[in-house]
Amino acid sequence: MAKRSGYEQAYQRFNLALWRRIISHNHRWRRVEKLYNVARECSHRWMYIGEWVLAFLFIGWATMRWSWDNLKNNTTLVYPLFQVSTLECRTLERSSMPDSCKIKLPIIHNADYSTYVNEKDYTDIYTTLWGAPYEDPWNQWAWAHYGVDIASAKWTPLYAIADWEVYSAGYNSAYGNVVKIKFKFNGEILFATYAHMNSISVEAWDVVVKWQQIWEVGNTGNVFGALGWYHVHFEIDKNNGWRPAYAFSGCPELDKGHSEIIKNGYCRIQLFQYTKDPIAMLESVDAPYPNQAAETQEPKPVEKEESHGVATGDVVETGNTNTSTGEDVKVVLPGEKKIEDKPLNVEKKNLIDLNFDSLDVNGKEFVNKWNIEIEKGFDDSIMLEQSTQIIIRITNKVSWAKFNGALNIPITAIASNTNVSLNPVSVMLVQDGEAKITITPVKMWSTYIALNLGNAKIWGTTIAIK
Ligand SMILES: [Zn+2]
Repeated sequence: MAKRSGYEQAYQRFNLALWRRIISHNHRWRRVEKLYNVARECSHRWMYIGEWVLAFLFIGWATMRWSWDNLKNNTTLVYPLFQVSTLECRTLERSSMPDSCKIKLPIIHNADYSTYVNEKDYTDIYTTLWGAPYEDPWNQWAWAHYGVDIASAKWTPLYAIADWEVYSAGYNSAYGNVVKIKFKFNGEILFATYAHMNSISVEAWDVVVKWQQIWEVGNTGNVFGALGWYHVHFEIDKNNGWRPAYAFSGCPELDKGHSEIIKNGYCRIQLFQYTKDPIAMLESVDAPYPNQAAETQEPKPVEKEESHGVATGDVVETGNTNTSTGEDVKVVLPGEKKIEDKPLNVEKKNLIDLNFDSLDVNGKEFVNKWNIEIEKGFDDSIMLEQSTQIIIRITNKVSWAKFNGALNIPITAIASNTNVSLNPVSVMLVQDGEAKITITPVKMWSTYIALNLGNAKIWGTTIAIK
C-alpha cells in the first residue's frame, strides 16, 4: 500500500473533524428542541392558570388603589403650619429657639391679599404668593409662581392638610426633599406638595391623617429668591389621569426654563389649568390651624426616628468638640482689640453672635482661631438714594494678625426681601483682614439683613429704607 501523502492525511483529519462537528451540533439542537417541547407542554397549562391569577391580583389591587368610592372625601382642610418663626429668629433652629420667636401663622382671611400687602407680619411669612414673581412676591397680576412660599425656621413642623395618602416622597434637585399627598376634596382629586423639607419621614403609599405631622421646614433643593431662607413651598396640583399635573404642562414657552417662566408669567394659562392657589383653597373652607387645641404647647412629632439636633449633611464632631470656645467668641470685648487705624464706632460694631454647635467642623475650626467682627455703615435707616456697607473684619485670636486669603467656608449675605440688593452676596476673599458688602436700596420699606458663615447665622440687623 502506497504511503499516504501528507495532503491525504490532512484531508482525512479535516473530514473527520468536520463530521464530528456536524454530528455534535445536530445532536445538541435536537436535545434543546426536545427539552423545549417538553417544557412547552408542561407550562402551557401553568401559564394559563398563572395569567388568570395575575389578572385577578392586578384587578384587585387596582380596585383598592384607584376606586373613587374608596377614597375618603374631605370637606374640610387644615393649614399646613401652626406655629412659625418670626423673621428675627428665622436662622435659628427650632429646637433651640426661645418661645418669643414663635408666632401663630398669620391667616390671610378670605385670601384677600390687598388687605395685607403692607403688613410686615404677613409679608415676612408669606414670602412669595401663588401666581407672583420672586421679584415682586405679593403681586399676583401676571406672573407664575405655582405655589405659596411660607417662611419659618428650620425644623418647623408641617402637617397634612387632608386625609389620604402619600403619593410620593423623595429628593428632587429643584424641590429638594419633597412630599406629595394625594387627597380628595369636595369630590376632586388633588395633590398637595410640600417642598424644600429638611428630611423625609414618610414614604409613598403611607396613609396620612389630617393634622398628622409629616415633615419639617428646611432649605433643600433650589431655594429660589429666598437665598438660603428656610421656607416651605406649598403647592396644590390638579390631577392629570391619576397623576399630579405639572404646573406648566403643555405650555409652548416651557423651554424658556423655570425661572424665566415664573419671572415673566409665560405659562399663566397652564398655571390656572393645572394648579390652584393654596391659600384661596384653604380659605374657601375656612381652614383652621392643624392643632388648635394645643396653642400653648408644641405638638409632638409623629414617628420621627432621628434627633432634631443634627441637620442632614452636617458633619458632627464626636470626640474633641469644645463647646466653651463658642462662648469665647462672645467674651472678647471690642475695646480690647487692636483693629487698626480707622476709629470705629463701637455702637455700630458687633462681634459675631453665633450658635457654635450649628457650625460644621470647618466652621468650628475657623471660629476657634479667628475673631469675626461686623461693622455697619448705618444706624438703623438709610435713604433710598444712598448705599451703605457692612465691613467684615477677621483677625487672629492670639496674634491679632489680619486674615489674608480665601476663606474655606464662605460668608454669605442674605436679605429678607428684594428691597435692597447686596454685592457681593458671598464673600470668599479677605484682604488685609477686611471684606465689604455693599447694600444698595431698591425700594422704600425695610429689610432684614443677615450674615451666615456656611449654614450658621453669625449676625443680623433690620434696616429701614426711607
Ligand atoms: Zn416656591
